Amino acid sequence: MANDKYLFVVSGAAGTGKDSVVKALRQAHPEIEKTVSATTRAPRPGEQEGVDYYYRTREEFQQLIEKDQVVEHNFYNGNFYGTLREEVDKRLAAGKVVVLVIDVHGAENIRRMFPGATTVFLLPPSEEELERRLRGRGTETEESIRERLATAQKELAQQDKFTLKLVNDEVEHCAAELYDVICRRAGISR
Ligand code: 5GP
Repeated sequence: MANDKYLFVVSGAAGTGKDSVVKALRQAHPEIEKTVSATTRAPRPGEQEGVDYYYRTREEFQQLIEKDQVVEHNFYNGNFYGTLREEVDKRLAAGKVVVLVIDVHGAENIRRMFPGATTVFLLPPSEEELERRLRGRGTETEESIRERLATAQKELAQQDKFTLKLVNDEVEHCAAELYDVICRRAGISR
């Protein structure tokens, strides 16, 4: 698709801080847009419909897939997550830089569909820190945390398939590095 050099995927193991980094990026550079995904999981405290996710029932999510309104989707930790086609297409058509914050499987699908996209793998400073962050969220059961940790190990094993890797040692610093990558790959002068 034309303009796919403006498409950026930020991925990495859950708990690496993808959302915080992209939030800091967009605070500093509001012209960079982020798609809002659809999910069947329940909102966490403080999350908002249309801001964090579009919260949908299984049936509604299935219908979105059947109507080809989902570019990629994944089943993760008991729930569906998917990128809505319209969220991507309208922004690329307008020549905007678009960031998708999705899991490693989603990144692989995007890479196949949009060969010009840049995929960025965020690494935690260490595996101990990753576990601390996953536990620190405090909203999950022990079983759910264990499942996330096991998934995180599998996700970390995928890192070499990405265009490049960044270490999320400190959110603002990592966001600044991500902005450099975006400017370089999208050909934006700063
Ligand atoms: P959470 O439940 O913590 O918000 O998200 C769980 C995982 O799903 C995270 O790794 C998140 O990046 C990923 N995710 C969120 N939206 C999408 C999406 O649209 N597609 C895919 N493939 N993964 C997503």
